[in-house]
Amino acid sequence: MGRSYDVVVIGAGVFGAWTALRLEERGARVLLVDAYGPASSRSSSGGETRIIRAGYGADEIYTRWAMESLAAWQEFFRQTNQPLFFPAGVLWIARADHPRAKTTLETLKRAGVAHEWLTRSQIQQRWPQMRLESDEDGIFEPQSGGIAARRAVQAVVAEFERRGGTYRQARVEPPNEDAIWLDEIALGDGARVSAEQYVFACGAWMGKLFPRAIGARIFATRQEAFFFGAPAGDARFSMPLLPIWYRLDDEFYGFPDIEGRGVKIASDRHGPAHDPDGAERMATLEALGAARAALARILPDLAHAPMVESRVCQYENTPSGDFLIDRHPSLRNVWMVGGGSGHGFKHGPAMGRYVTRLVMESAEPEPRFGLAALGEMSQRKIR
Ligand SMILES: Cc1cc2nc3c(=O)[nH]c(=O)nc-3n(C[C@H](O)[C@H](O)[C@H](O)COP(=O)(O)OP(=O)(O)OC[C@H]3O[C@@H](n4cnc5c(N)ncnc54)[C@H](O)[C@@H]3O)c2cc1C
Repeated sequence: MGRSYDVVVIGAGVFGAWTALRLEERGARVLLVDAYGPASSRSSSGGETRIIRAGYGADEIYTRWAMESLAAWQEFFRQTNQPLFFPAGVLWIARADHPRAKTTLETLKRAGVAHEWLTRSQIQQRWPQMRLESDEDGIFEPQSGGIAARRAVQAVVAEFERRGGTYRQARVEPPNEDAIWLDEIALGDGARVSAEQYVFACGAWMGKLFPRAIGARIFATRQEAFFFGAPAGDARFSMPLLPIWYRLDDEFYGFPDIEGRGVKIASDRHGPAHDPDGAERMATLEALGAARAALARILPDLAHAPMVESRVCQYENTPSGDFLIDRHPSLRNVWMVGGGSGHGFKHGPAMGRYVTRLVMESAEPEPRFGLAALGEMSQRKIR
């Protein structure tokens, strides 16, 4: 029986979108399917902005993927003539003896990433609106920045379609995990589609699609982001006068005001469990209070700024924070791709290139991305 497609990619978040585009560029006949639409409000990729930075402590593989991806994002935005990268620079705020600061510095140096070590007084000279503790310093990545996440993913899907790929909105039913080969997938409307290979890049839904292979080992946590309005006419909190920052001690990160949405701040700590389909996405007063306190601590002049927007999203976490990229243990033509764990967005282009190689060349994935490495009890170490 002839197959309709070479590959069906399920999930049009950042991982699925880039995988579909890269497969299409390699000449495969590709169908991309998503239940709610590319980078919808329910997906992890649907936010206003995401950080792209290279600092990853000692985990050089992610530094290298981030470098590759930054270049690819910029090239894609140039080619498609869309200014969706915001060159704000990224400032890591850390105490000099913080182990992650030391290893990040070493890795950035080794990988040739542009960076500066800045003392507290240098930081406060450059960005006088920021207040640091007396023992905090920072690592600045001048070439890193932010990406307009939702629009960027939608642009990748549009490019995929422009090149001849097919996109369809439909819910894919969970496959039979007892089989050894997936002949076809069933869509919610009763249609069936067949392909040689399938890539499931379903974010927080991976455990729902593969309860046996994955189950709760990819778990969704509720993450709340807030946007605060600067005083009228005050440009100190907008790009280019304020960088993106990540503070290692309280694990809050923030963005300058971009496109008038307000100064964004959010906690990188895991929130409570979250249902990506049914959850009401109303921010809580508790998270708002914590965000306001973190904002007042770093940008004291915004201590009384009004909250002008909020977003509720989910991280799709693996226990360690490493990605999951592996074949299904029994369905030999099924690939499972996800586990972005709060840091995946930036890596979309490198993920697309990596998965395309696995699918087109039958290559084997790194053991650290394998199902076997998804230990139930391991600690979050990548962020
Ligand atoms: C608040 C927040 C801040 C973040 N900040 C950053 C950051 O600064 N930098 C960074 O690099 N990363 C960041 N991340 C992480 C990053 O956004 C995610 O890791 C990444 O977007 C995950 O992409 P994905 O394609 O795996 O999943 P998703 O974007 O969730 O896409 C999965 C898609 O699969 C579809 N789907 C699911 N089930 C089915 C089905 N049965 N049939 C059809 N379709 C289905 C869904 O509709 C969805 O569109 C952040 C995440 C959040 C929530």
